[in-house]
Amino acid sequence: MAYDYIIVGAGIAGITAAEQLANVFNKKVLLIDKRDHIGGNCYDYYDEHGILVHKYGPHIFHTDSQRVFEYLSLYTTWNVYNHKVLGKIGDVLAPIPFNLISIEKCLVDERDALFYSLFEHYEINEEVTILEMRKSDDELIRGLANYVYENVFLHYTQKQWDLSPEELDPSVTSRVPVRISYDCRYFTDKYQRMPANGYTVMFENMLSNHNINILLEKDYHEILDVDFESGKIYFYDEEFKGKIVFTGMIDEFFDYRYGSLPYRSLVLVDEHVDERFFQTNATINYPNDYHFTRITEYKYITGQEAPSTSIQLEYPTKYDPNVSEASIPYYPIPQEKNHELYNKYRLLADEFENVKFIGRLAEYKYLNMDKVVEEVLDWIQECMEDELEE
Ligand code: FAD
Ligand code: UDP
Repeated sequence: MAYDYIIVGAGIAGITAAEQLANVFNKKVLLIDKRDHIGGNCYDYYDEHGILVHKYGPHIFHTDSQRVFEYLSLYTTWNVYNHKVLGKIGDVLAPIPFNLISIEKCLVDERDALFYSLFEHYEINEEVTILEMRKSDDELIRGLANYVYENVFLHYTQKQWDLSPEELDPSVTSRVPVRISYDCRYFTDKYQRMPANGYTVMFENMLSNHNINILLEKDYHEILDVDFESGKIYFYDEEFKGKIVFTGMIDEFFDYRYGSLPYRSLVLVDEHVDERFFQTNATINYPNDYHFTRITEYKYITGQEAPSTSIQLEYPTKYDPNVSEASIPYYPIPQEKNHELYNKYRLLADEFENVKFIGRLAEYKYLNMDKVVEEVLDWIQECMEDELEE
C-alpha cells in the first residue's frame, strides 16, 4: 500500500491521529511503534492471573471536555469510576488531595481553629495550591500549609522528580491542590470513566479501519531516514512524499543536536496477592516512607471481580536510555531550562512542514490523555479547514 501518512508511535496520540486520518480523510496510514503492542503508556492487558492491569502505571480517564468524551465513546462503553487516593501520613491514611477530612484525621486538636480560619479566608469547595497556601497571611493557615507541604509534597516530590516542589513549574504540584471541601475524589472533572473492556480494546476498535496498517517492534530509524539538509524523508530508501506524524521524543528526532531533554522514568514492580483485596482503596501514596511513591490495586479501578488481586509499586528513577529498566521516558520534567531547550527543538520542528509533532514526548509536555486527544482533534480540525480553503 502507498501510504499518505506514516505515524511514529502507537500511543493515544498516534492512534487518535491514525483513526481520524483514515476515517475522516480516507487516508492510507502506516502506524509504527518500537514496542510489541499498541497503546503506548496507556496499554492494559490481563496478567497471568487473569487480572486486568496497566503495564505502565495507573491510567484513569478524566476530562471536562464533552467533545473528547463523546469522541472516545464512539469506540468504547464506560464504567463510571471516581478515583480515590489515600496518603500514608504517620500512622494515618488520609485523603489526597488533602481536604477537610484529612485535617480531621491528621490534625484532630487543631481542627476547629483551622476550619474557622479556612472558612474565613476561602470559599467552600475552593482549591488552593500548596505553594499559594504557604504564602497565606494567616498564621494558622501557613502552619497548615507547612504541615501539608512537609508531609504530603516535599518527600514525594523529591522521590518522584529528584527536585523540591519549588524547583518545578508550579503546574506540577497544582495538579494536587488542597481542597476546602469534603470531596475525596482525586479528580473533579465532569467525566470520570474507565473504558469498560480496557484501553487496549478501545484502541483496537479505533484502529479497525482497513486503511490503517500497524507495524510493531519497529524503531522508526529502521524504516525512515531524515535528510536534515534537504528536509526530505526517505521510507525504505525511497523519498516519501506523504506526511509524518511524529509522537516520539522531539530531541531524538533531531539526533539530540542541542543535547538531551531530561525525563523521569519509573521502575514498576508488579505483584500478585492471593487475597481478595490487598489494600482499602485503589491507590495509596507513601509520601514519606519507602523508595516507591504509591501502590495501586487494579481491581478497584477496573471493577473486576476476582478471588485474588494484582498490585503495582512505582519507584521513580532517572531516565537513562542505556539502562533497560530506566529507558522509558515517562515524564518530561517541567522546568524553565528544559522548556527553553525544548523551544530550540520546536523551532527546528516548525521548519518541517511535512512532519506534525504531537503528543506528550513530541511536545515535551506533562499532558494527560484527554489533552492529547484534544490536541489531535484540534489539529485534524485545522487540516479540514485548510482543505476547505484549497
Ligand atoms: P506515549 O503513550 O508515550 O506513546 C508514544 C509511543 O511512541 C510509545 O508507544 C513509544 O514506544 C513510541 N515510540 C517512541 N519512540 C519511538 C521510536 N524511536 N520508534 C518507534 N516508536 C517510538 N493520563 C491520564 O489522563 N490519566 C491518568 O491517570 C494518567 N496516569 C499516568 C500514569 C503514569 C505513570 C504516566 C507515566 C502517565 C500517565 N498519564 C495519565 C499520561 C498518559 O500516559 C499520557 O497522556 C499518554 O500516554 C500520552 O500519549 P502519547 O501517545 O503522547 O505518548
Ligand atoms: N504530589 C505529591 N504528593 C502526593 C501526590 C502528588 O507531592 O501525594 C505531587 C508530586 O510532585 C507529583 C505531582 O504532585 O509528581 C503530581 O501528582 P499526580 O498524582 O498528578 O502525578 P502523576 O499521576 O502524573 O504521576
